[in-house]
Amino acid sequence: MQECILLVDDSPPSIQLMGRMLADHGELRFATSGQAALEMMRGTAPDLVLLDAEMPGMSGFEVCCAMKAEPELADIPVIFVTAHGGAEFEVAALDVGAADFIAKPVHETLLRARVRTQLRLKRLADELRLAATHDALTGAANRRGFERALEREWRRSQRNGLWLSLMLVDVDHFKLYNDHYGHIAGDTALGAVAGALREACMRPTDVVGRYGGEEFAVLLPDTPDCGAIHIAHRLLETMQRLGIAHATSPTAAHLTVSVGITTLPESDNIPPRASDELCCAPARPVENFLKSADRALYAAKHAGRAQAWHLDHLAGNEPWPALALVDSGRCARAGMAA
Ligand code: GH3
Ligand code: MG
Ligand code: MG
Ligand code: MG
Repeated sequence: MQECILLVDDSPPSIQLMGRMLADHGELRFATSGQAALEMMRGTAPDLVLLDAEMPGMSGFEVCCAMKAEPELADIPVIFVTAHGGAEFEVAALDVGAADFIAKPVHETLLRARVRTQLRLKRLADELRLAATHDALTGAANRRGFERALEREWRRSQRNGLWLSLMLVDVDHFKLYNDHYGHIAGDTALGAVAGALREACMRPTDVVGRYGGEEFAVLLPDTPDCGAIHIAHRLLETMQRLGIAHATSPTAAHLTVSVGITTLPESDNIPPRASDELCCAPARPVENFLKSADRALYAAKHAGRAQAWHLDHLAGNEPWPALALVDSGRCARAGMAA
């Protein structure tokens, strides 16, 4: 994929000049004010920003500070372009988080070399970030990446009174699968389950994580219980359609999964510690949320596997069967679309 460089300068001739110098260095975008640059970055984050230090209105320094304060923009490297060199300027630029600086008038070879260096470092940093938060085998978020997303979405749903659903998905009789087909086939099957999960989740805000060995977790922001059950249904259907043979499974002839779902209901004002009182006090609420999903998963396993169970996080004491069987796709609650 082509890298994207954003050139920000209040002088159009400067932008044109640098644009010509960097024409073969990736996709170039342009902004002539700090405000416009920030708006553009919030739309699609570039891989590098060349930032004029002196601009009317919002200065390059202010733009850089604003970027560092926004988590989505904070990791984008910034090269300051300035007519004012000197140690004092360079220290100030480094203090606000600049990666490098280039003096005006811009020297073409120097500009190209410095841009290439920053793009290479950005690529490496992106790879490291991905490896730190994603599981190499399945491409899903790893446990750390998932827990971070869970904390974030938990806080957001409490703040905004939005629905939040969580699914725990455990592969059934996977030890028997490994014993019969071998670990390498097991790894391939886990990749297929992760693919089925991604296929079942349609929204870009849904997060699929590998929570343990053969256990996955799916976070569904702004999704009520019936929406989560719908997704569980799609997952069970996909597993059936994939038909990955599991000759030694006591449950079915193909590889199946069990699903535990919990939902934090929509509300105008959820008391911050309400979930503590209703479920498993005194642990932290987000942990209780996971425990609710885990209880639902346990119920699904106990009831015979290859099915999904639900537990209302705040209201319910006992999980209830959401999808009774793989084949039926029926919802236990009347009127709930499966
Ligand atoms: P249940 O239906 O009760 O969940 O039974 P199970 O056999 O799936 O559960 P159990 O916890 O007994 O076994 C989980 C198995 O998952 C054991 C382990 O070898 C396998 N497993 C965990 N991680 C991996 C992995 O990365 N690759 C492979 N191939 N197998 C894995
Ligand atoms: Mg200027
Ligand atoms: Mg299992
Ligand atoms: Mg397990």
